[in-house]
Amino acid sequence: MSVANSKKMRVVIAEDDKISRRVLEASLTEWGYDVTAVADGKEALELLCGENAPRLAVLDWMMPGIEGVEVCRKIRERGEQPYVYVLLLSARTEKKDMLAGLKAGADDYLTKPFDTHELRARIFAGERILRLQDELIGTQGALQFQATHDVLTGLLNRGAILRDVTRELTRARRENTSVGLILVDIDHFKAVNDRYGHLTGDAILHGVALRMSGLLRAYDSIGRYGGEEFLVLAPSSDAEGSMQFAERLRAGVESATYETEAGPLRLTLSLGVAISNPEEAPNAQPLVQAADAALYRAKGAGRNRIVLATPDDLVGQLASTSRLQPLSHT
Ligand code: GH3
Ligand code: MG
Ligand code: MG
Ligand code: MG
Repeated sequence: MSVANSKKMRVVIAEDDKISRRVLEASLTEWGYDVTAVADGKEALELLCGENAPRLAVLDWMMPGIEGVEVCRKIRERGEQPYVYVLLLSARTEKKDMLAGLKAGADDYLTKPFDTHELRARIFAGERILRLQDELIGTQGALQFQATHDVLTGLLNRGAILRDVTRELTRARRENTSVGLILVDIDHFKAVNDRYGHLTGDAILHGVALRMSGLLRAYDSIGRYGGEEFLVLAPSSDAEGSMQFAERLRAGVESATYETEAGPLRLTLSLGVAISNPEEAPNAQPLVQAADAALYRAKGAGRNRIVLATPDDLVGQLASTSRLQPLSHT
């Protein structure tokens, strides 16, 4: 859980000595923390590994049952987010003990008896680090989103959808199932731009993307493949299922109206569908090319329709994978 927005940061204190525990609890509460104090390592571990766990932990080294240093080691073994900042408390003053604590994954170490001001300074440092880390993760997430999504439509971009296709082809091969790929192209979209201008064209593209996204099942994905072309991925889908799915997309876009300054506009789609063969190598390109060949035929046959790629389309594309060609229309 993110700590950046919550006012009070939650802290777990694990200390078997009752008096010390009370002192710690009172101090941290006074400094503005939401404190849960427990008397042994087992309880601390349960809290820290539970759902929505506190991110800051003050652990006594010596406790009955599981010692603080062991709690720390176990938390680190999970090796996953969110990070728990651990301050280890111990009466052990030897340098090797401190090193052992840090080696177990403690972020900081304080020897008992400790000075309250020092404890406060160290707790604040821990909180600062957690908040900085959250900010960093937030920024990383935003960058990751930008790198994988198309700005205009908010859909996955070409690289990202193709990675999804490859991943699903690999899985399908392992599970001996097939993957459906649908290449979608808006009919006569140039005329929309010519008539209403590029900005309205952009807004309509966004609207069509939204409309199609709303028609996907949870495990399908869609990406913007090129200008007014979209690639839809239907995992574990055979020809019949994929054709039905394509029909849902076709009918869904056809039945909607898109706002322009000259009133509502209707659009149609042409779609090419290709089904993978689990016996072939998991290579996205020939499958997309086969869907494109089918789409090309859908255009030629009058648009606003769906054409299923033939096994020959796929075989033909597989044979020519080594000389990758641009799609016939983009
Ligand atoms: P067809 O039925 O054969 O697909 O006809 P079309 O006009 O849709 O196809 P064509 O490939 O000739 O033109 C595609 C058009 O899509 C031309 C281009 O201006 C428009 N387009 C591509 N990307 C964008 C975009 O990001 N925004 C806008 N507004 N238009 C775009
Ligand atoms: Mg103790
Ligand atoms: Mg088009
Ligand atoms: Mg096109």
